[in-house]
Amino acid sequence: MSTATLTASALTPLNKALEDRSAAEIIRWAHGVFGRRLAVLSAMQKAGCVLCEMVADLGLAREVDVVFVDTGLNFQETLDTVEQIRSRYGLNVVSLQPARTFEQQCKEEGVLYLWKQGQERCCDLRKKEPLKQIIGRYDALLGSLRRDEGSMRADVPVLAIDKAMSMVRVHPLFAMTTEEMEAHIKARGTVVNPLHEQGYPTISCNRCTTPVLPGEPERAGRWRHLAGESEYCAINPTDVRRPNAPEPSVNLESGLVERLLGSVGAV
Ligand code: SF4
Repeated sequence: MSTATLTASALTPLNKALEDRSAAEIIRWAHGVFGRRLAVLSAMQKAGCVLCEMVADLGLAREVDVVFVDTGLNFQETLDTVEQIRSRYGLNVVSLQPARTFEQQCKEEGVLYLWKQGQERCCDLRKKEPLKQIIGRYDALLGSLRRDEGSMRADVPVLAIDKAMSMVRVHPLFAMTTEEMEAHIKARGTVVNPLHEQGYPTISCNRCTTPVLPGEPERAGRWRHLAGESEYCAINPTDVRRPNAPEPSVNLESGLVERLLGSVGAV
């Protein structure tokens, strides 16, 4: 297989063209380019569930898998949401697990999530490493990041390079506001994690997620015990700023790179 290098700057014309497109149009475009080597990455929070529903609504349930990282520490409500996404939308959910159980990990390395560097290692071991099981299986991941979330996501591009995963990240919901997402869920009766109705605006592992008080920022319940030292688990490359890092790039099959870059006129 011959490969070609795809750089972040080569995506600029496509990113510009896709800025004017709806979420459904971006999903359809991505499926046209990547075919069955496109998957959704969802943690079964609100936006991730909306993305799953949109894929199914476009008739792509048998074409586009959903990837879910089961850290072994998810709330039961989150695991129940996975089952509902499977049964309601007919989507194939690929569930990925870490190499060790949490009990084994604690025995061998201590309770990592209790301190900043330990949390980073724990998220690496239980989120980022399991995700690497899909390297080579897909070329692009649809993610649920939205600019309206603010902070590191305030300027998330439609397309980004994921060097560690050798993939392209696609963010069809980049322009969706929280109000628009809520209205969509209400109008469509979208399957969502019931914990959102119990004071959890965002949801991850049960050890590191709490409800938030009225008036607190949405992500205040994430790693609360670290007192603001951690905001993201870094499973999404655009959540991490590396100011002096070289421009990200990936090597992909040359025909795919040609198809991707050549699709700018068809957006
Ligand atoms: S969210 Fe907490 S428990 Fe889950 S992987 Fe990260 S540090 Fe570990």
